[in-house]
Amino acid sequence: MSEAPPRGKRFPLSLQQLGSPKAGGAAAREAREAREAREPLKPQGHWQQAAAIKAKAVPPSGLGLDSAGVRQRMVKRLRTEGLADERVLQALATVPRHEFVDTALAIQAYEDTSLPIGHGQTISKPSVVGRMMALMLAAPGAQQRGHLGKVLEIGTGCGYQAALLMQVAKQVVSVERLKPLHDKARHHLVAYPAVRLVYGDGMLGHAPSAPYDSIISAAGGDDIPQAWLDQLAPGGRLVAPMTAPSGRGQVLVLIDHVRDAQGSRFVRSLHEAVLFVPLKSGVM
Ligand code: SAH
Repeated sequence: MSEAPPRGKRFPLSLQQLGSPKAGGAAAREAREAREAREPLKPQGHWQQAAAIKAKAVPPSGLGLDSAGVRQRMVKRLRTEGLADERVLQALATVPRHEFVDTALAIQAYEDTSLPIGHGQTISKPSVVGRMMALMLAAPGAQQRGHLGKVLEIGTGCGYQAALLMQVAKQVVSVERLKPLHDKARHHLVAYPAVRLVYGDGMLGHAPSAPYDSIISAAGGDDIPQAWLDQLAPGGRLVAPMTAPSGRGQVLVLIDHVRDAQGSRFVRSLHEAVLFVPLKSGVM
């Protein structure tokens, strides 16, 4: 049951309820007119307001404005777990991983897990990407240079690792064999013009931009393709997953192109077990 409003508050209001006596109303109107004559209308004020509102807008990821905070917490965990290279940690703290995955997965973007990126592929775990980057930065050539120089990445995927690499390199050339992923990465990497995206079979490397100071693969085959060794500059380092010598599972392989008084050679070492998607030939 609804109550009737008190009599005095009924609308429309009576003239008396409108307030000021007539003389006062006229004075107020004159004052207003004088003020308006001095101050031109400012319709652009609305545009400024709109821009301010847009700047404060919360991205539809569910992470809101605090994605930097969530990223910092991820970096803190990775540091506790043993990732020590400050440049890599800084890169991981900078690149918004949630913007490289589907909106529905954004909430998981700062967990140390691989996530699906479509077409049967996955974005690698931050700890593994971090570990591979740290191994590359520890190469004598990279230490002298202070960065990774010119990098070849095999397996662009969604482009996340390419964006990370760009934080510690001069140039990144990244090859992807699946056209829809190549296109998706192009979209994700508009803010990274120094990343060159190539649609092609990365098993062949990318000869037009060779040689590379650093080569990194995000997909693992039974062996390291000869083209990668051919395109690795003297002093350069390659890091990739590869089928373990036992034939079961994968391990990280590190290859240095050493050139000294004894000539030029490739020095190979095997590291921890990893799990990457298979390196496949041809394009799709
Ligand atoms: N670095 C990527 C990881 C993607 S997963 C990221 O941050 O998202 C590995 C990618 O390697 C897949 O997209 C797969 O299609 C690609 N790949 C596999 N074999 C390849 C080849 N021969 N050439 C280029 N890309 C390849």
